[in-house]
Amino acid sequence: MADAPGGDDPEQGPKGWKPATRAVRGGLMRSQFGEISEAIFLTSGYAYDSAEQAEARMAGKEEGFVYSRYGSPTAEMLQERLCLIEGAEACRVTGSGMGAISSAILAPLKAGDRVVAATALFGSCRWILANQMPRFGIEAVFVDGADMAAWEREIARGCQLVLIESPANPLLDGVDIAAVAKLCRKAGALLVVDNVFATPVLQRPLELGADVIAYSATKHMDGQGRVLAGAILTNAKYMSEVYDPWLRHVGPACSPFNAWVVLKGLETMQLRVEAQSRTAARLADAIAAHPAVAAVRYPHRKDHPHYEIHKKQMKSGGTLLAMSLKGGQAEAFRFLNGLKIADICNNLGDTKTLACHPSTTTHRALSDAEQAAMGLDRSWVRVSVGLEDGDDLEADFLGALSAV
Ligand SMILES: *Cc1c(COP(=O)(O)O)cnc(C)c1O
Repeated sequence: MADAPGGDDPEQGPKGWKPATRAVRGGLMRSQFGEISEAIFLTSGYAYDSAEQAEARMAGKEEGFVYSRYGSPTAEMLQERLCLIEGAEACRVTGSGMGAISSAILAPLKAGDRVVAATALFGSCRWILANQMPRFGIEAVFVDGADMAAWEREIARGCQLVLIESPANPLLDGVDIAAVAKLCRKAGALLVVDNVFATPVLQRPLELGADVIAYSATKHMDGQGRVLAGAILTNAKYMSEVYDPWLRHVGPACSPFNAWVVLKGLETMQLRVEAQSRTAARLADAIAAHPAVAAVRYPHRKDHPHYEIHKKQMKSGGTLLAMSLKGGQAEAFRFLNGLKIADICNNLGDTKTLACHPSTTTHRALSDAEQAAMGLDRSWVRVSVGLEDGDDLEADFLGALSAV
């Protein structure tokens, strides 16, 4: 197989390309058949020319594939494309977003270590920190993500790893990534950023000082609601020393088929995210004025409590919004049940508009007190805005609101 023309020459090769070109052509490895669309290599193992070659490959003395838990050609194309999109040295893809994020935060730690994270976090990430890490002798503490004094105090008390999600589930809270990165550098702590809601199109955590970025590629990267996948990005040295041994032996590998679906999704990600963000901003404004709505949260609306943070580090407001209904859970349910175009679904980042009630679905494992600590109560609905026409969506939302 040959690399894309130009190789790594920064003038002619992929590193000299603009982002849209990287997303369409980055990582392409053509087989002898000259296919235009990337090939799916559905194979678990690889044949060696000789026993000597098998020995050399296994010992890492000769380049080449050995087993698809370690890597496969299709996954490698996706990894290379993601490196180019993110501006990272190394990427490994996994079978789900949680496969990536759990590996990103567990592989670097040992008993006695201490983790600091924001209270507002994706439910499963919070579960790992609050329930699994203490069983391994790792302490996890949660701070209000917008409270810089709290970050400073807790990181200074001793901390090996910080996990940030911004905007965060479900109310799109913001954390100042560059400011927390500075504190991490001073303390020698690893900064891991879950960049799922923002996507690499809108927010660039490596440029803000993050050490590791983790993604659920299930969301905007596939972007069409088909497969689960995840990705970890960091520098080449840290990847080979810390993450590669973990990923090879623990085994959260990405199926070549799923890697291929995400590769194709990346080709249209920028177009989709920009268009979906424009519609999300419009919908947020349209519903904010409705008398049944108590509050709207959209990162680039001035009434978002973390507007300044989001404005500073995110190119646009993104594809998600949240709204609080004056009538609480009963009205939130009536609104969801009244939608005719948007689906009720806890997934996000899809071309189809999806709405859910976080208190009883994505965040149901948290007690009312834990939900309250992140500003969540039963009046909130989260919306992931898709690619449908903005006029149709606005009519759908206003129609469902008129029924509450
Ligand atoms: C969905 C999601 C995850 C988990 O990803 P899966 O692909 O569902 O495993 C992690 N973090 C955030 C912010 C998410 O939205």
